[in-house]
Amino acid sequence: MRIPPLKSAYAAIQERIRHAASPHPVNLIAVSKTRPATEIRSLAELGQRAFGENYVQEALAKQSKLSDLPLEWHFIGPLQSNKCREVAAHFDWLQSLDREKLVEPLNRYRQVRVSPLMVLIEVNIDGEPNKAGCSPTAAIDLAKKIAAAPNLILRGLMAIPEPYPDQSRRRESFRQMRELYGEMQRRHPQIDTLSLGMSDDFELAISEGATMVRIGSALFGPRV
Ligand SMILES: *Cc1c(COP(=O)(O)O)cnc(C)c1O
Repeated sequence: MRIPPLKSAYAAIQERIRHAASPHPVNLIAVSKTRPATEIRSLAELGQRAFGENYVQEALAKQSKLSDLPLEWHFIGPLQSNKCREVAAHFDWLQSLDREKLVEPLNRYRQVRVSPLMVLIEVNIDGEPNKAGCSPTAAIDLAKKIAAAPNLILRGLMAIPEPYPDQSRRRESFRQMRELYGEMQRRHPQIDTLSLGMSDDFELAISEGATMVRIGSALFGPRV
């Protein structure tokens, strides 16, 4: 397979998002895990601002090389309690908060920064064993805790559904997320973000209501 240069891949993804999303806007998070800072810089020069990273140390190394750029950093990997401090201090968004005991340390460590940390609750929507994310029921309680933390702002929900080969089954998982999101919005009217969809399924996710998509390999090429 020929890997298209970043510029044409970026234009193609933007076009596909526009096509899938009309008329509602969808935010693209460029997932740059395993990719070098030079590629992030190239994409930033094309106008991309939000980047997603899964590993704290890897992300911090790239951030220090790119500190001259006004980028928005999203932590999207599984969050361990010993990483709360660095995530709170060095990211703008955390998309993978999935348990109550991390709320207090995140809130405390965020105080050194000017603006609050934007937070999405990660939901394990298909109840897969050994996967990050809380149950839909636990998400309701977790949302209350986040909403009460002054240095965190609850913005919505994130999920990585099971990659069922069957598209209609996958659509069902997205639909369940949208329902939970609606339920959450009734309790927390300020939330505005449903982060669903990756390279393989972002158009399906958008058609089911995603407002944010996280795309890695379709943009940068397959990860090695
Ligand atoms: C790696 C990753 C992505 C991007 O996956 P692609 O299939 O390469 O687009 C999106 N979200 C999360 C949480 C990831 O870990």
